[in-house]
Amino acid sequence: MRRKLTAGNWKMNGNRGLMAELGTLSGSQSADAPEIVICPPHPLLTRAIDATSGSPIEIGGQDCHAATKGAYTGDVAASMIAETGATFVIVGHSERRDGHSESDETVRSKAEAAWAAGLTAIICIGESDAERAGNDTLQIIAEQLQASLPDGATAENTVVAYEPIWAIGTGKVPTLAQIIETHDMLRGELLTRLGDASTGIRLLYGGSVKPTNAAEIFQAENVDGALVGGASLKAADFQPIIDALAAS
Ligand code: PEP
Repeated sequence: MRRKLTAGNWKMNGNRGLMAELGTLSGSQSADAPEIVICPPHPLLTRAIDATSGSPIEIGGQDCHAATKGAYTGDVAASMIAETGATFVIVGHSERRDGHSESDETVRSKAEAAWAAGLTAIICIGESDAERAGNDTLQIIAEQLQASLPDGATAENTVVAYEPIWAIGTGKVPTLAQIIETHDMLRGELLTRLGDASTGIRLLYGGSVKPTNAAEIFQAENVDGALVGGASLKAADFQPIIDALAAS
């Protein structure tokens, strides 16, 4: 049985004032809550660790470099993220793949760097609008998964997030049937590639998850939780999503 997980991606939003939202979230989790991870911008990692101290909420980075150190101005090594007390890092978000020309190979190297630093990598994949329209979704995301996922992925070091690019930040969401189709296929791909080691790897859905649609999305058997952007910024929006996951 996989433990449900909901991760919040704050993207380039937030300031120290937003730590109050983390305080609210920290104080409102029951013992049987799903695993909860918040990924703020890197300068806020330490404050977020402090704001959630003593609570079950975990903290993650939004990206890391594949190298351990060096002349990479503006980049952050996985070990630096781990040193703050964070335990997760997102790699391969479509905003990195598109905006920073990150290939599957880059994403795979970043996931390996995350593992080496003791972080769990949340590896993101997802098709574009045009790929969905061309009926290429299943092939595209299967290829992305195979090329972005390093050998040696386990339930402890890896989470996979399926995020259709056209659904991120748009308010558009695939139908439940489409979500079931993609997640069932991805579960099968993981099993074929990794065998029994894959069965504990969590598969998240991401893309315009809101309090109003979370319960429906979580009906899909192979959806183990959500990667949430906009609706993770306010405790009043994120908590109902956590509650819907707990109830699923
Ligand atoms: C995301 O940033 O990964 C995301 C899914 O964003 P949103 O929930 O805002 O669509």
